[in-house]
Amino acid sequence: MADPIASTAAPEALADVSVGASAHEGRRPAEPRLTDFLFHQRRKHGKYRVIGGPDPALEGPLADTHCHLAPLADRAASMARAAAWGVDFACDVCDPAEDAAETFACLSDWEAQARSWAAAADDAPATSAAPVRYRLAVGVHPHNATYWNEDAASELKRYLADPRTAALGEVGLDYYYDLSPRDDQRRVFRAQIRLAHETGLPLALHIRDAHDEALAILDEEGFPEAGAILHCCSLPPAELEPWIDRGCFIAYGGAVTFKKLDDARRGAMLVPTDRLLTETDCPYMTPEPLRGIENGSEYMVFTAALLASVRGIEPGEDRRAFLAQLHDNALGLLDRKPTAWQLSAR
Ligand SMILES: [Zn+2]
Repeated sequence: MADPIASTAAPEALADVSVGASAHEGRRPAEPRLTDFLFHQRRKHGKYRVIGGPDPALEGPLADTHCHLAPLADRAASMARAAAWGVDFACDVCDPAEDAAETFACLSDWEAQARSWAAAADDAPATSAAPVRYRLAVGVHPHNATYWNEDAASELKRYLADPRTAALGEVGLDYYYDLSPRDDQRRVFRAQIRLAHETGLPLALHIRDAHDEALAILDEEGFPEAGAILHCCSLPPAELEPWIDRGCFIAYGGAVTFKKLDDARRGAMLVPTDRLLTETDCPYMTPEPLRGIENGSEYMVFTAALLASVRGIEPGEDRRAFLAQLHDNALGLLDRKPTAWQLSAR
């Protein structure tokens, strides 16, 4: 049997095409301006190649538990394409220091724009898919810890009271970029863990190069009863174990498909199926075989197929049951009824 860690199903190449590229300034590579539901893999010299999705096609719908809609270059296209590729639920993550005001004000407009995009797409017969249902997560990212003060806390509470809000996040510690002083990061993380307890909402955790310290803080403050998601996980087994022991949900995105991250795949084999989640973190972390272009929820089909394959799950009935469990995990955690705090805060 092939080593499941090393096997990434290579999708079939269908054709070579060039895609009209939108103009970007500076050195950022141009993104293809998509007018259809196909996957366009970046090749050399500004060319794109159309590739198929996982073969055989995934047996069930997917939930993207962590996406960022506001920064997407062509948001309507991505939202419509995600629906066509079987994503029926997603949690859009925003930050009061950056894009929360725009997100809370515009989400329903964005959804309408996605429906219009789908109706006008080149291969409109594929548009019969129901639109993605979006919920929101909101929190101050560790990069923005210096934004935190009393006013910011009140502002965050107003967003958390919105019935569309399903989680508090992404919050945590990022000692890789260190964009905010570590003392500020720790203080703001603690304050937001306390808010998760107060509001009854689950936490979406962003932890980078700071897992031991984050765990110590969470142990002191207590993991929220509503749950916690370790987002964008690429931890090797030994470092992952304490998070599994604490009952954390573990979410895998594009990183688990990266060729060099065998450790992440070894970790992904250990997570109990009822604690495993899929995500994209789009527009970042585009999975193989589409690395090099902006990510979107639709590309999660490759991540989901890879997760099944590293866990030794064959396409067909077994993979159908596996995907159904991951979908249930996501909806159970994030498609939640308003908490008592949310009801009283209205
Ligand atoms: Zn994120």
